[in-house]
Order: sequence, then C-alpha cells, then structure tokens
Amino acid sequence: MIGLYIHIPFCIHKCLYCDFPSYGGILQYRQAYVEAVCREIDSWSDAAAADTVYFGGGTPSLLEAGQIGAILDHLQKKFTIDPAAEITVEANPDSMTAAYAAALCSYGVNRISLGVQSFNDDMLRFLGRIHTAEQALQSVRDVYDAGIDNISIDLMYGLPRQTADMVKYDMDIMKILPVCHASAYSLIVEAGTVLKNGLDQGEFTLPDDKKIEEMGKLVHDSMHAMGFSHYEISSYAKAGRQSRHNCKYWQYTPYIGFGVSAHSFDGSRRWANISNIPDYIRRAGQQSVIGESIDIQRQRAMEDYCFLALRLRKGIEYADFERHFGVSLQSVFGDVVRRLSDQGLLEKTGKGCCMTEEGLSYGNYVFSRFIR
Ligand code: SF4
Repeated sequence: MIGLYIHIPFCIHKCLYCDFPSYGGILQYRQAYVEAVCREIDSWSDAAAADTVYFGGGTPSLLEAGQIGAILDHLQKKFTIDPAAEITVEANPDSMTAAYAAALCSYGVNRISLGVQSFNDDMLRFLGRIHTAEQALQSVRDVYDAGIDNISIDLMYGLPRQTADMVKYDMDIMKILPVCHASAYSLIVEAGTVLKNGLDQGEFTLPDDKKIEEMGKLVHDSMHAMGFSHYEISSYAKAGRQSRHNCKYWQYTPYIGFGVSAHSFDGSRRWANISNIPDYIRRAGQQSVIGESIDIQRQRAMEDYCFLALRLRKGIEYADFERHFGVSLQSVFGDVVRRLSDQGLLEKTGKGCCMTEEGLSYGNYVFSRFIR
C-alpha cells in the first residue's frame, strides 16, 4: 500500500538552521491553503489503497484540529485508507496542548512527531526555536495523556557549545518520557540559513568531528540501554514503533504528496509540487501544481533503491532487489558490495547486506559508491 504525505508550510518563525520549505509570518493563508490541499486531493485521479498518512512541515500543528480533520476527510473519500493506518502529525511543543492532541485523536490521528531538538534552553535559543525545554516536556505528557501513545521526538546533537553532559541530560530526560521513537541528527549547517551566515561571520564554531562522534555514540548507547533499536541511520524505535511512513521512502514504496513542495513517487517517476503558496492556492484543483517531474531510468532506479535501503539497518535484501528489477544485485553491484565489504563498511545479513557500525559513520561515502 502507498503512503500519503501532506505538506503544511507554516511556521511561527523560521528557525535559524532550517532549510525546509516553511515560512514564518503567513498564517493568514491557512484556511485558503487547507481548501487548496482538499481541491488537489479531490482532483487526484488514481484512487489507491494507503496505510500511512503523514502531515509534515513546516508546523502542521499550527492548523486547527478541524482543518487536519477536513484534509483527512477528503483523503478518505479519494483513497482507500486502511482502518489500521498510521496517521502522523508533526507538531512543535509551543503549539501542542492536551485538548489539541485529543481533538486530533478524535479525527483519527494516532501518532505525533514532536520537534523537541533539545531539553536545554540555551541550545533551543541558539537554534532559534521558540519553545522552552519545559514546554517540550509538557507537550510529550499532554499528547500521551490525550490518548496518543505513539510519540516520536526529534533531537539534535553536535551543536556549538553543546557538551557531552548536555547530550547525556537529553537522554536522561528521554528515559522518563513516554516516547517510543526518536530521530537524532547531528547539526548540519545548510547553505542559505541564518546559521550558515553566523558561521561564516565567525560568530560561533562547530564542535570537531571527534566530539560529534562521541556525542553520536552517547546517543546510540543510551538509546540501546533504553530499549530502542537503531533501525535507520538517524532513527531509533521501541519494538513495533518504527515510522511506517518513513520506511516507505527507504523501501522504495510509492507515496503521493499534496501541498506546496510536496514530493511524490509512483515507482517509475518522481515529481514535486510548486513551492509558491499563492500560486498553489490559485492553481490547486484547477490546473496542475507539479513544478518538476523526472522519469527514473532503470540504472538510476537501482542506485536509488540501494542507497535508500542501506539507510535501514536491515539493509538490502537480495530477493527484494530481484523482485523489483528482475536481475540479481550481484550482477549489477557485485563489485561495489565486495569492495565495501573488504573496507569493513558493509557486512552480510541472512538475506543480503547492510552497513556495518563503521559504515554508518561513512554513510555518504557508501551511498556514493552505488552511483555511477
Ligand atoms: S519549526 Fe521546523 S520547519 Fe519550522 S522553521 Fe523550525 S525547523 Fe523549520
């Protein structure tokens, strides 16, 4: 079954490190945008079966619960949504309350992904986040008390002035919270962000690679000690709580995205919607809102498949590769797999191959070897 993604591009204020398609100060567009998304869904021609729905952003929790419900209603009329579907809403701690979570729950939302990033107020200020550590704690409890027990949080490490003790503190807080999934990322300063400008101006420096590696290891070991499994490069989950939606991206499963800048993949073509919100609102449901589209050639498809699958700890399953492409992995990438195995970056699994612990630290290098 496919996954459905809805992009909600609104934020109260742009975080200093953010290069996602999101915008602060345009909340007045919300209702018109929701109506446009519903029109785009209504105009979709291919009614498939779906078992995941993901509201990402931006900050989807800036929509009223009823607006999320309205979009779900239109999805349900157009697609066959599995009664046991995973329905996720990304939320920020400053826009989450128990009443809001309960209202989302009443519309069928059963998973919340909270953008916590850190439980240290100095780190949150540095990142330009508008919530406090206390709000982050409270938001997790509010969501749980409202009846949603599938809760994920995002955490960052490798921040300027962040110490190993601060990372350990974040992990200690995790222990006392009812969280069953976490995405832990080291900070990447992207071009075009306020943070990149500050870095270039010498306003701060980043921790060196050794310190970042130590923090990453601390996160990794703490997660394991708390009973989380490391199932994807940046993702940890308790048993049965992997993000079913995100796994579709890594397992080469089709997904359809609605809203500005939303990406879609149907197995042989990828496309992305336009990013201009007023244009999107004007065009949705009346004319195409696709901004760019590429047909994926066979060689490219096989490369994509491999480096996406390798993000998962279970890696590439040879039989699955063959089912998709009608040829064996060895016949196409046998030399690459052999060389990476000799370098200690890939290892055999019962069904195929995956990255070793060391390989995980050199993920981009490993992925690049699969691309001609
Ligand atoms: S809340 Fe998320 S999407 Fe919005 S600006 Fe911050 S990082 Fe970007």
